[in-house]
Amino acid sequence: MDYAADKGWQRPRIVPYQPLTMDPSAMVFHYGQTVFEGLKAYRMSDGDIRLFRPEENFKRMNHSSERLSIPPIDEDLMLDYLKELVKLEKEWIPTEPGTSLYIRPMIISTEESLNVAPSNTYTFMIILSPVGSFYKEGINPVGIFVEDEYTRAAPGGTGNAKTAGNYCAAYKAQERATANNKAQVLWLDAIEKKYIEEVGSMNVFFKIDGEIHTPVLNGSILEGITRKSVIELLEHLEMPVQERQISMDEVIAAHEAGTLQEVFGTGTAAVISPVGSLQYKDQDYVVNNGKMGETAKQLYETLIGIQTGRLKDPFGWTVMLEA
Ligand code: PMP
Repeated sequence: MDYAADKGWQRPRIVPYQPLTMDPSAMVFHYGQTVFEGLKAYRMSDGDIRLFRPEENFKRMNHSSERLSIPPIDEDLMLDYLKELVKLEKEWIPTEPGTSLYIRPMIISTEESLNVAPSNTYTFMIILSPVGSFYKEGINPVGIFVEDEYTRAAPGGTGNAKTAGNYCAAYKAQERATANNKAQVLWLDAIEKKYIEEVGSMNVFFKIDGEIHTPVLNGSILEGITRKSVIELLEHLEMPVQERQISMDEVIAAHEAGTLQEVFGTGTAAVISPVGSLQYKDQDYVVNNGKMGETAKQLYETLIGIQTGRLKDPFGWTVMLEA
């Protein structure tokens, strides 16, 4: 689907997957005016297809677009288009446990101009790709590297928008994590490098002394849909989550005191990813003996159960498409 300032969004169409032909001066190549989303479709053994909270993705996409001066899309219409597309391509959705169809909606600016200004034309696309189980050999807790040199997102910046620049700005830190044998980066705030923000492409939760805590949304953290679901689920289980500022010093103090029981990340790709160790300023802090904790396990089983239709969905989170 295309956008032109004088015509609005127009020409929705489904075409075979193919390369795009674009002018080298297309604005997206130069100034990165682009937003994207990521969600999954699961196919049940009876053929029915489930999407997990897709309306939240289009809502977040519009929120990201607002920040990037991209015109909004009609969220309900996009959801209808997405359903049509997924139904049409349903033979590509694998059925083995843990597998799914990854869905990537995106908007790119296409005006042919080197002006530093919002584009007058855009293209909205949805691409699909079957994905295998995130955890091929069972759930292994990941090691994370607490980044204290680079920062991901400054106050007033684009941290809570899902836009390309946030991700390539993270590559240097990811290189440092990899060099330290850690799988992911844990980001601190840009001003004091003291407060915890999020992990790579996940939000982060801590279980300290029996209570669950997660960094409060401060404008520079992406508002994860899995984060929101985990908070709602824990509320339902009468384990309310405390959304607040959490400092790295506090996490280390809890580790020293023996009260840091679990750390886990939440995101569409892994759903729940337990953290087995945290490296901060050359010190390695092992969490829960490097094993998955009981809360992370319970959350993983419940969420994946709801997403794949094995468990009842008391929240109305799943959108069913008839076979
Ligand atoms: N933070 C960042 C930076 C991300 O890219 C993602 C993945 N979208 C998340 C958090 C988790 O968000 P969600 O639960 O919506 O996948």
